[in-house]
Amino acid sequence: MSRPSVLFASSEVYPFAKSGGLADVAHSLPRALNAECKIEVVMPLYRFVDRQKFNIFPLDISFEIIMNGTAYPIEIYGCEFEGLNYRFVYAPLLCDRDFLYGTAENGYEDNALRFALFDRAVVSMLKNSDYDIVHLNDWQSGLVPLLIQEEQDIETKTLFTIHNLAYQGTFDHKVLTEIGIDEKYFTIDGIEFYGQLNFMKAAIAYADMVTTVSPNYAKEILSTEFGCGLEGFLKHHEKKLVGIVNGIDTEHFSPSDDKVLIAPYRDLRGKAVNKSAYLKERRLKGARKPLFVFIGRFTWQKGMDLLIEALPKIAEQECNVAILGEGEEKYYSALKGIADECENVHLEFGYDESLSHRMYAAADFLLMPSLFEPCGLNQMIAMHYGEVPIVHGVGGLADTVGDYKDFDAKKSEGFGIVFDTPSLNALIKAVDQAIKLYTDKTHYNRVAKHNMACDFSWQESAKSYLGLYKKIIQKRSHG
Ligand code: ADP
Repeated sequence: MSRPSVLFASSEVYPFAKSGGLADVAHSLPRALNAECKIEVVMPLYRFVDRQKFNIFPLDISFEIIMNGTAYPIEIYGCEFEGLNYRFVYAPLLCDRDFLYGTAENGYEDNALRFALFDRAVVSMLKNSDYDIVHLNDWQSGLVPLLIQEEQDIETKTLFTIHNLAYQGTFDHKVLTEIGIDEKYFTIDGIEFYGQLNFMKAAIAYADMVTTVSPNYAKEILSTEFGCGLEGFLKHHEKKLVGIVNGIDTEHFSPSDDKVLIAPYRDLRGKAVNKSAYLKERRLKGARKPLFVFIGRFTWQKGMDLLIEALPKIAEQECNVAILGEGEEKYYSALKGIADECENVHLEFGYDESLSHRMYAAADFLLMPSLFEPCGLNQMIAMHYGEVPIVHGVGGLADTVGDYKDFDAKKSEGFGIVFDTPSLNALIKAVDQAIKLYTDKTHYNRVAKHNMACDFSWQESAKSYLGLYKKIIQKRSHG
C-alpha cells in the first residue's frame, strides 16, 4: 500500500498556538508520521499566531461558507515549518480573538459557530482532494464526520481522537439552525445530548474510527465515573474505540540539547546545576532539600483542590515547592495566599514554555494529583528530565508510571510514586514517601536515572496510528 495521505485537523498546534497537551500532540504526532504518510496539518489562523516569524502566507484560496443564510468569508494560508506543511483557516469570526476558546471560567458564547466554520472549511479542503484520511481532534473538529455525510464527492475517511472527554462542546439546540445542520441529525444516535447539541458525541457517532490517548482511559470512559455522560454511547460504539498512548517530542523536550537551560545535561549531576540555578534565581533556600514542582492548568481536573489543601502541610516538610500555571482565579488566589505565607513555596503565574523547561530540569519530583488524566504529558516530560513523578494512578498516568516499590531496571516503563485514591491523606503519604526516597540517594538516583533513559518518544504510538490509518483505508477499498 502506498503512503496514506492524511489531513490532521486540530484547534491548536504548537508552536503556533497552545493551551495544553493537544497542541503538543498536534505538533509531534504528525512529525512522527511524516516519513510513513503524506501528512498536512490544518488549524485556525488565530490573530495572535505570529505570521511573520513562521512565514505564513496566503495561498490564494478563498471562498464563502454559508450557514443559515449568512455568508462567512474564508481564506486559506500556509507555511512549511520544520519539514511539514501547515494549512491555516482564517475567518474573522473564528480567529480575531484574544484567546483560543475564551477564559478559563467561560468559553466564548459563539464557539459553536466559530468551530462549525472551521469544520466546514476543513470539509471544503477535502473536496476533490486525495486525502485518504482526515484525523480530527477533540470537539472543535468534531462536526467533520457528520458534515461529510452530506457530501457526495468526498471519499476521505475519518479518525477522531478524544484528548479529553470532559470538554464535549455542548450548546443550546437553537444553534443547530445557526450552524446550518439539518434537524434530522438531532437524534439520540446523532448530535442530540439531553436536549442540547454535542459536537463530541456527533464525532463518536459518525467517525469511522475513534481513538483516545491511552489504553487505560479508553477503558475508564466506558464507566459512569469517567464517561462524562457519554459512557453508554461509547459502549455502543466500543468496537471502533482504541486507546493509543501519547508520546512526547524528544527533540523539543531534550535535556541534553535544550537551548533554554542554564546547563543542558545528560546525567543527574548535570541536572543538579539547573536546580541550583533555579533555586538561586527564585530565592529558594536549600539545594539539598527535594524540589517539588507542579506545572499545569489551574483547574479541578488537575487535582487543584487537593493540592491546595495539602500544600501547607507539604510546606512544613524539609522541601521546596514551585508551581507554574494559569487558570481559574479562585485557585490562583488560594495558591497566592499559601505562597505569601510559606517561604519555601514559590508561585509562577502564567503560561511560559521556557520557564516550564527550566522547572522540569530543576525539579526532583513532579506533583500530578489529577482527578482524571486522559494521558498526561507532564509526567513523561518530567521523567525524561530525570524527575520522579508523584501521580494519582488514573488514565494515562497508570499506563505510563509504574510504582517505585515495584522498580525493575529491566522494564521499559518509568517509575514514580503512585497513589490510588485522590485524598488528602494519600497525597501527603505519597509526599512523605518521596522525601524518604530522596534521603536514600542511591535509591532515588537509580529511579531518576532509569526514568531519564526510558523511551517516551512517539515511535511506537505513531506505528499504531499508521496501522489504524491503513486499516481504515483497507476497509474502504473492500467496500
Ligand atoms: P492538558 O490537560 O493541559 O492538556 P497535558 O499533561 O496533556 O495536560 O499537557 C500539558 C502540556 O502543557 C505540557 O507540555 C506542559 O508542560 C504544558 N503546560 C501546562 N501549563 C503550562 C504553563 N503554565 N506554562 C508552560 N507550559 C505549560
